[in-house]
Amino acid sequence: MRIFRGFRVQYNDARGPTKGGIRFHSAETIDTIRALAAWMTWKCALVNIPLGGAKGGVICNPKELSPSELERLSRGYIRALGRFIGPEIDVPAPDVYTNPQIMAWMMDEYQTIVGYHAPGVITGKPLPLGGSEGRGDATARGGMYVIREAAKTLGIDLRGATVAIQGYGNAGQNAHQLLAGELGMKVVAVSDSRGGIFCADGLDPAATVAHKNATGSVSDQADTTNISNEQLLTLDVDVLVPAALENAITKQNAADVKARIVAELANAPTTPDADDVLFAKGAYLIPDFLCNAGGVTVSYFEQVQNAYNYYWALCDVYAQLEDKMIAAFRAVHETAQRYRVNNRVAAYLISVQRVAEAVRLRGWV
Ligand code: NAD
Repeated sequence: MRIFRGFRVQYNDARGPTKGGIRFHSAETIDTIRALAAWMTWKCALVNIPLGGAKGGVICNPKELSPSELERLSRGYIRALGRFIGPEIDVPAPDVYTNPQIMAWMMDEYQTIVGYHAPGVITGKPLPLGGSEGRGDATARGGMYVIREAAKTLGIDLRGATVAIQGYGNAGQNAHQLLAGELGMKVVAVSDSRGGIFCADGLDPAATVAHKNATGSVSDQADTTNISNEQLLTLDVDVLVPAALENAITKQNAADVKARIVAELANAPTTPDADDVLFAKGAYLIPDFLCNAGGVTVSYFEQVQNAYNYYWALCDVYAQLEDKMIAAFRAVHETAQRYRVNNRVAAYLISVQRVAEAVRLRGWV
């Protein structure tokens, strides 16, 4: 028998049931979970979906656990916390080292406790259990829509425009496929934790994904030049997409960033002092809680489909996602222009105001 410590933080539910992922990580802390729960509140408000913010986590190393241990841990989390969640209360989702299979076990355990079907208790489920079409690449797709809108705003023709992507996991790989495949951009550099590659003619997404799957890294791919992560960030490209970890763009390297658009698919890739440097030099930054909000938006669509037990075609998911992302982008851009602030401050102005309005209308203050 082993006992694990886990958390769930519900930060603010003035606008609706709280929403946020569950992380399985050995270095998890209640403070990280609190901060991420607050962030989810602002993200949901910014894309104007009727949800609040939450986050959960378990201190564990999932790589050390067998599949049946992972299942028992997932079910144990719901046995401990199940009465605090629910489709109308708080709706978890996958996050760091949790996946659709874990969501399936958690949903099943919840249904065993309450005694009826309640697929809307959790999102990111496998398709046969009420998952949504389009969830897999939703984060990158949402990012693609806002990059396209930013380029329109700045008068940049994206056909053949160059892009560098840091991080080659779910967000980075899908961004490569979508930016090259749907927008006709030239992805000249990508990287992962072991380093990056550059090819002036553009990297083929299928070949790069195949190389990464075969060797475990993007480095050393034929007909490309190996570069470091630091070099990737300062390449002379039209669009830079940090899609790895936090604190990639710092005060030290921000002045050397040459991209006209910095699209933050990762959470918190830019430090606050680097933000000021980028703004002062005229880079157009699409802040993380706008740029990567496609994931939570399609999670919300999953809840909606579960609630009326009718499932949308992929094209309907894409169309609804595009509408939400464009509306959020325009609101941020117009607010930044009106108050002469950077896009991150503008995004906070909108989301905090929306949450504050809900709090005020409820009479909480
Ligand atoms: P992932 O684990 O699938 O991929 C992360 C990638 O980053 C890997 O390729 C890894 O090798 C690379 N990486 C790690 N350290 C690096 C370093 N120092 N330099 C360069 N690359 C490095 O994760 P993901 O789901 O793609 O998430 C990436 C970022 O996007 C995270 O910040 C995450 O919070 C954010 N995000 C993801 C989603 C989503 O739906 N996947 C949603 C919202 C936000």
